[in-house]
Amino acid sequence: MVEKPTAAAHPCFDVKARHTHARVHLPVAPKCNISCNYCNRKYDCVNESRPGVCSALLSPYQAVEYLKELDTHIEKLSVIGIAGPGDPFANPEETLETMRLAKAQFPDKIFCLSTNGLNLKPYIDELALLNVTHVTITINAVDPDIGSSIYAWIRHEKKIYRGRAAAEIIIKNQLECIPLLKAKGITVKINSVILPGVNDHHIEEVAKMVASLGADVMNCIPVLPTKDTAFEDIDKPSGPLMKEVRKVAKKHLGLMTHCSRCRADAAGLLGHDFTEAYGMLREYAMR
Ligand code: SF4
Ligand code: SF4
Repeated sequence: MVEKPTAAAHPCFDVKARHTHARVHLPVAPKCNISCNYCNRKYDCVNESRPGVCSALLSPYQAVEYLKELDTHIEKLSVIGIAGPGDPFANPEETLETMRLAKAQFPDKIFCLSTNGLNLKPYIDELALLNVTHVTITINAVDPDIGSSIYAWIRHEKKIYRGRAAAEIIIKNQLECIPLLKAKGITVKINSVILPGVNDHHIEEVAKMVASLGADVMNCIPVLPTKDTAFEDIDKPSGPLMKEVRKVAKKHLGLMTHCSRCRADAAGLLGHDFTEAYGMLREYAMR
């Protein structure tokens, strides 16, 4: 069983900690092994705040040097996470090396990862040994027919899959990981991106399935229609639609409802980012 640190709190998993405890995402994982039809990671800017965006990429060594300085600027920096800008397990060497180095420097902080789950399974034992206590898997569908309109392709064991075959593989891998993570005592959050007309009517099925496998909490995130993606013209989910989706999901497991849809290099309190971090990060990327 993974021993959970008690001196720190996770602002995403513990709503009371959101105003008191900060998190940082270390942007060390640039590549992705799938293509979601709502994702565009081509932006490199300080003004846009959404997943996939970051102001620079760091090597594991640069990331830990940056972390040492950041820790002197941010009070109660309790969570160290990796959330891209691609997928942590499309870049497993960088991800695990960063976690190892960070753990050696900051043994008391909470370690957290966010992944699409396609290539997570081979690394679960190592994550537990590194005392990663929180893992988020983004699962947008458990029905391959619906998944096939969300994922353009996946790259699995050096082969590209598209359509239903791609969706079948990713869904199988994602779902397999939930009980394996739980067996290691890891807290599991499921993120689902709500795409009106595509998966909004399917979220109860997702919630039911992930809850039956042991997931702890679910986070239904309204899609942010993004330029130059297949879903750039999709309707933004309305307030009532999100309310309904959350209502049906809540029948099956607890919900997180305060997600800030953070950047891949977010730092600080949720919703109140320490934006000076982006400049610092650029400097460390050049060292
Ligand atoms: Fe983009 Fe994340 Fe999907 Fe990869 S898994 S394509 S980084 S949204
Ligand atoms: Fe937490 Fe949501 Fe931000 Fe991830 S994107 S760090 S779950 S608030």
